[in-house]
Formats: sequence, C-alpha cells, structure tokens
Amino acid sequence: MRILLVEDETGVASFIKRGLEEENYTVDHVVDGEEGLSLALTNQYDVIILDIMLPGVNGIAICKQIRQKSIQTPIMMLTAKDSVKDKVVGLDCGADDYMTKPFSFAEFVARVRALLRRKQDSLIELRYRTLRIDTLSHKVYAGDKEIMLRPKEFAILLYLLRNKGRVLSRTQIIENVWGYDFNPTTNIVDVHIKSIREKINEFTPSDFIRSVRGTGYMIDTDSSEDAHD
Ligand code: CA
Repeated sequence: MRILLVEDETGVASFIKRGLEEENYTVDHVVDGEEGLSLALTNQYDVIILDIMLPGVNGIAICKQIRQKSIQTPIMMLTAKDSVKDKVVGLDCGADDYMTKPFSFAEFVARVRALLRRKQDSLIELRYRTLRIDTLSHKVYAGDKEIMLRPKEFAILLYLLRNKGRVLSRTQIIENVWGYDFNPTTNIVDVHIKSIREKINEFTPSDFIRSVRGTGYMIDTDSSEDAHD
C-alpha cells in the first residue's frame, strides 16, 4: 500500500510517516504543494493525505485538480482549521475524509484503513493461478497453505499482480515498495524477488514471476482469469 503525504509541518509529517511505516505502508512525503500535485497525478497511490495550508499549491486546489483528472484515489484532508465551513469546502472539493490537527494516531490510522477498505471492497482478495492474496491481512495462500512472506516481499508481489502484463522496472518497484526517496545501494529488488520465488516454489511453481532482461520483472496476465472478464 502506497500513500502520498503532502504536509509542510515537519513534526506532524514525521509523526505520520513513521507511524504509517510501522503499519507497513509505503509513504512518499513531500512538503511542497506543487510537488505533491505532480506526484499525485503521476504515480498510483492507495490513499492521498493532504494538508490544506501548503507552500506552492494549497490542499484544496490539489484535491480539485486530482478529481478533475478523474483520479478516484481516496483523499484525506489534514488541517489545523476546525470550522464547519473549512470542512465543507474540503469535502466539497472531492476529499473523502477530514481530520483536524492535533489528532490521535490510532484514530488517524483507523480512518486510513477505512478509506482503503472503501476503495478496495471488491479487491480485498486477489487470485492468480493457485495463489490467493488477502490484501487486508497481507496473507498469501497456495490452496489452503499459507506462504509466509515478509512485508516488503508481500508488497512487491502485490504490486506486480496489480500490474499484470506490464514490465515493472527495478526503479518503479523500489519507488512503490520503499518510497521514492529511498536510495538503494544493493540489488535489493533482485534479492527480494529471489526470496519470493523460493517461498512460493515450495507450494506451487513460481515461474510466473518473470525476469525481463535489462529492465525488471513482470507477471503475465492469467489466461484462465481473462476468459471470465
Ligand atoms: Ca501546513
């Protein structure tokens, strides 16, 4: 799960970022409104968290532009303002939820989860060949056997599955799973893919995770599944 956080108060931002990362979300954090808008329009996020008062473009304007581009990603507004008028403006511009600072992290995370659930009601369970992936509990099964993946391994598998039929570069995988400001010094993606393959292979052939030479990795579309579309 990848979350965009646009928040210029460093204290609040690091509190949110750290907390979400502990819950195994990947967080892209930017302080500038324009940068936030550009990331929101370029990358696929599961949830976008917007402060209202920002340098560059404010949160309301960002929210409006995201919706104008028909991007339906759930948006949560954060603000120090708590007047009814500000909440109405926030929700009217297309935000799904609203939190007034200061707030408790427990409530914040519960609301983020609720936004994810609303978005993905139909997508909670993914199936691919004999694999069953529960996107809420982060569990993977082959038949009735659970495959024990570590959080980053799960995130990579999910990202590849959600983009079946597309070659994903190592950079795209790193940005999605570790965040775009992560600077890998090793072949971290290859190491994780190798481990995912080994774990899956204990239960079912893992050759559907293909290496694309010089580029990255991909999972082919599942022909049996396409027949039902
Ligand atoms: Ca602010």
